Amino acid sequence: MIILAIDALEYSLVEKFDCNNLKQEYYGKTDISEFSEPRTMVLWSSFMTGKNMEREILAKGDKEMWNTKIELKDTFFNGFKNPRIIDLPGFNYVKEHHEQERVLLKNYFDAKTDEEKDKIRKAYNNLAFEHHRRIKQEFSAALNDDHDLLLGYFSVADVVGHLNFGNRTMMKMIYRDLDEIAGSIKDTYIVLSDHGMEKLGMFGDHSGYGFWSTDFNELENPRITDFAGLIKEIQV
Ligand SMILES: [Zn+2]
Repeated sequence: MIILAIDALEYSLVEKFDCNNLKQEYYGKTDISEFSEPRTMVLWSSFMTGKNMEREILAKGDKEMWNTKIELKDTFFNGFKNPRIIDLPGFNYVKEHHEQERVLLKNYFDAKTDEEKDKIRKAYNNLAFEHHRRIKQEFSAALNDDHDLLLGYFSVADVVGHLNFGNRTMMKMIYRDLDEIAGSIKDTYIVLSDHGMEKLGMFGDHSGYGFWSTDFNELENPRITDFAGLIKEIQV
């Protein structure tokens, strides 16, 4: 089983750019209405544990949210013999890297001049694309290894989207690339996003639904917490 976990993959853009490998045979929106806000860390944590983790994570205080680290035994990954999970928030992602992104994002909004903002935006995008290339390579290599579960987490659509969602050329390039990654998978896979993204001028903000696709099952408006059980079932 392969899971393509894509942060902020927006349903309407998958449609618009006609990303057939991301869509597969069956696709749609996930229902995340049980959560008070579409928060990345809360949603992926809820995905891997199969239960709503919002209260637990928020109880730790906002600042600690990015330090969330769920143990293998508390996730559905534990039901696999040789799982490989790449860069997933709340589990094993490279915290230092994602922190760098958040610092640049903050600097961007703190910057006083357009010139300064431009410079920071470029550095921010470069950092995100560089990380994306690294994860893409790691994922592609892992496809050839003998894993009964492989999950690759791709943050580029979210990170770049926050400052560039109004830039359709850039977003199209990212969606094409993600679609190509999906196209390179020869096995059965699930595409899943935590939430989508909506346009706020040049910027992007999280939207109130996620995205899913499979080539084996029509799912009726699934919740992100349904996938743990669903994937375990398929495995049996
Ligand atoms: Zn997210």
